[in-house]
Amino acid sequence: MKYIETSTGKWEVVIGLEVHAQMISNSKLFSAASTKFGAAPNENVSFVDAAFPGVLPVINSFCVDQAIKTGLGLNGTINLVSHFDRKNYFYADLPQGYQISQYKSPIISGGHVEIEDENGEARKVRLERIHVEQDAGKSIHDQSPTKSYIDLNRAGVALMEIVTMPDLRSADEVSAFIKKLRSILRYLKTCDGNMEEGSLRADVNVSLHRPGTEYGTRVEIKNVNSIRFIVSAIGFEVDRQIEVLESGGIVDQETRLFDPATGKTVVMRSKEDAQDYRYFPDPDLPPLILEQSRVDRIRETIPELPDAKTARFQRDLGLPHYDAALIASEMEIADYYEDALTHLPSGDAETAKILANWMLGELFSLLNKDGKNICESNVSPKNLAELIQLIKTDVISGKIAKDVLKIMWDTGKSASVIVEENGLRQITSAADIDDCLRAVLAEHSDKVAEYKNGKEKLFGFFVGQAMKKTQGKANPQLLNDVLKKLLGEK
Ligand code: ADP
Ligand code: MG
Repeated sequence: MKYIETSTGKWEVVIGLEVHAQMISNSKLFSAASTKFGAAPNENVSFVDAAFPGVLPVINSFCVDQAIKTGLGLNGTINLVSHFDRKNYFYADLPQGYQISQYKSPIISGGHVEIEDENGEARKVRLERIHVEQDAGKSIHDQSPTKSYIDLNRAGVALMEIVTMPDLRSADEVSAFIKKLRSILRYLKTCDGNMEEGSLRADVNVSLHRPGTEYGTRVEIKNVNSIRFIVSAIGFEVDRQIEVLESGGIVDQETRLFDPATGKTVVMRSKEDAQDYRYFPDPDLPPLILEQSRVDRIRETIPELPDAKTARFQRDLGLPHYDAALIASEMEIADYYEDALTHLPSGDAETAKILANWMLGELFSLLNKDGKNICESNVSPKNLAELIQLIKTDVISGKIAKDVLKIMWDTGKSASVIVEENGLRQITSAADIDDCLRAVLAEHSDKVAEYKNGKEKLFGFFVGQAMKKTQGKANPQLLNDVLKKLLGEK
C-alpha cells in the first residue's frame, strides 16, 4: 500500500465512489418519452415526466434488462426481488417532488471491478450495490436576467448508481477504476461513458487515517464529471484534510463541491443540514420481481469483456500486457485488431506485436489528427495487414511504410498499389547497393579520409547520402553491412 509520509508520520487515503451512469435506452425509465441528447428544451417530456396529476409510472422493461446486464458484467448478484422507493426533496427541476430510486433493496448487490495498483498488481475494487433511479431535469439560469427556465428532457431518464466499497487508495487508483468501469459499460452497451455529456459522473468520498487504525471521517465531493477533475479534487482534499488533522482539528462530515476554476473544493452543506429524504416504498410501483430464466438469458448476451480479452491476447498472441490492455480497452479497437490479424498469414508473436505497434502508433496518430475513431478509419484492417505484410517480407522498409500509410490514409488505396504506382520497392540487391555506395564514397573521398582518421560518426553521413540517392529505398540492414565492408576495404 502507498502511504503519504509527513513529519508526523504516515497517512493512508481511503476513497469510495458513487458513480452515476446514464443508461443507454431509447426511452425513459418510467415513461415512453425519448432520451435523445441535444433535443430542443422540453421536446422529450411526457405527462409522467412532468408529473401531471393522475398519471402513473410504468417500468421500462428494457431498462431492467440493461441493469441486469450491467450487474452480471460487473460480477454482482442479481436480486430477483427489489423495490422502488421515493426519495423526497423539493427542487424546481424535480416536478414530482421526489425521485424514484432504490434504497433498502437494490436490483444488484456486490460485484467487483479489477484494476492494477501502482505496482502493476491486479486488485479487486469491491462494489457495494448498483441501483436504478430517475435523473432530474435541468434548471437554466443564464438565458434571462430575471427568470430561470426549466428543461425537463432529462427528467425521468434512467440512471444506474454504482456504489463502491471504500477500497480505493489514491487518485491514480480512482482514475484506473473509472477507466475500467467505463470500458466495461461500453462493452456491455449499457452506458456510453461520455463524461463531457454527463453520462458518467461521480460523487467522491475521501477520508484519511493512520494505517492500522479505524477509517477517518469522510467528506463527499459531489458530481465531478471528468477524470482530470476527480484527480485534482482528491489531491486538494487530501492536502486539506492532512492540514486539518495535523493542526489538531477534526474533519467534518460534509458535502463539498469541486470548482474547476480554482482547483479547490468548497463546502456545500454540513452534516447538520444533511437532508432527510423520508424514503418510503413507492405505492405506484409493485416490487420488481425477476425470473431466473430472464437473468440466464441475459447472461448469454454478455460479450468477452476487457480483462478476459487482455488475458487472451497475452496468452494466445504473446502481446505484452500494456499493448494487450490498450487494444482490449475498447471493443471496436479490439475488433479492428483481430480483423487485421486474420489477414496476416502468420499469427506469430512478432507479427502480432508489429501489427499492435503500427495500429497503436501510426494509425492512431492519423486518427487523432482527423479527430476520428477507429470505426471511421480511412484504412481498413485488411489494408493495414497488407502493409504489415510488405514490411515483413522486406518489400518496403519501415520508414517508407510510414509514407505509404499516409498515402493510404489520404487516398484509400491499398499498400501494394501505392508501392507499385510510386516505385517504392526496397532495393535488396547487394550488387545495386554496392554500386550506389561506391559512387557515394568516390564523390566524398575527402570525407572518407576523415573517416579513416577516426571521425567515425561520418558513417551515418555515408548512409544518409546513399539513402538520398535511392530515395530511401535501400534496405537499411544491407546498406549498413555493405558500407562496413567497403570502408574496411579502403
Ligand atoms: P451513506 O449511506 O451515508 O451514503 P455509505 O456507507 O453508503 O454512506 O457510503 C457512501 C460512499 O462512501 C461509498 O462509496 C463508500 O465506499 C464511501 N465511504 C464510506 N466510508 C468511507 C470512508 N471512511 N472514507 C471514504 N469513503 C467512504
Ligand atoms: Mg449510500
